[in-house]
Amino acid sequence: MKQLRNTVIRAGLETLYFSGAHHLLRPIFAGVATVFMLHHVRPRRTVPFQPNHHLEVTPEFLRMTLAHVRARGIDIVTADEMHRRLAGQDFSRRFACFTFDDGYRDNRDFALPVMREYDAPLTVYAASDFAEGMGRLWWVALERVVAATDRIEAAIGGTAVQLDTATLEGKQAAFTRIHNLLRGLADDRDVAREMSSLCKRYGVDEAAISSELCLSWDELKSFAADPLVTIGAHTIRHCNLAKQSEAEAQREMSESRARIENTLQRPVVHLAYPYGDRSAAGPREFALAAAAGFKTAVTTRPGMIFPEHAAHPTALPRISLNGNYQTARMLPVLTSGAATAMWNGLRRVDVN
Ligand SMILES: [Zn+2]
Repeated sequence: MKQLRNTVIRAGLETLYFSGAHHLLRPIFAGVATVFMLHHVRPRRTVPFQPNHHLEVTPEFLRMTLAHVRARGIDIVTADEMHRRLAGQDFSRRFACFTFDDGYRDNRDFALPVMREYDAPLTVYAASDFAEGMGRLWWVALERVVAATDRIEAAIGGTAVQLDTATLEGKQAAFTRIHNLLRGLADDRDVAREMSSLCKRYGVDEAAISSELCLSWDELKSFAADPLVTIGAHTIRHCNLAKQSEAEAQREMSESRARIENTLQRPVVHLAYPYGDRSAAGPREFALAAAAGFKTAVTTRPGMIFPEHAAHPTALPRISLNGNYQTARMLPVLTSGAATAMWNGLRRVDVN
């Protein structure tokens, strides 16, 4: 299903590119700004089973994107400057903001050097449990479980699954199946429990993953001292906020902010909602983020920034730089806004 969706999306992007329609659509749908969303930036890995590949781009693709944005004369700005321009309705120049979720160490090792080549600022949203070395990156844990075994037998949220994971196709199907079952559970604590038992059964060291992949507090301190870097919040546990009680969602936002501020000794006024889609962040979360003092908050809803977003700075859409579409010809389509306009049924602003 995921494969089918990818194929349809790719065909759509290719059609937009080859028809040249994105040139015609750009003035209408490009909006005033783009917030790019990235996760990992690292050299391509050679293992065939990479179900989380959409979450990583190579340093070369990041460089290609920056060159494209610069060539169009678009300013690359900090999250603070984005907020200033939104609040002041200053749309005299087009601008872009590069944002990175989860606080991966490769952001420092591979993204920052490339951003530096273009003197381009970046915003990295850190989940405080990940920095603590005790976070649950369950999607990575699941990848490792499926990679490690030829067969999975488990009960996920009461659903019994028996999956053949001997072949690459089997592994991909099993990952999708279990991923969907986990995303369907009532709460992140259920996901954590199910994942822990899978890891235990198939010999995956789940606890090691966050310190292996994410910047520690000490590393974040020196990373944050770089003038190009802004650190934002991404909750404490990397939880689906919409599934929490209002009090718990509020605590996840304000306490994660306080923990980063205390450790880094600098203000934290920007937030990214974990998962960030409609099922994880809606009007209640947008209001809570504003009440918690965040100047901006970003979702994973696809879209460009329009002047109307000035009234909704805690409900900003983004353009994903997706590891599955790392080709130069995707870039003009993505920055034209044509692709996301199609996706959004030609609506410019979606904050409900
Ligand atoms: Zn995240």
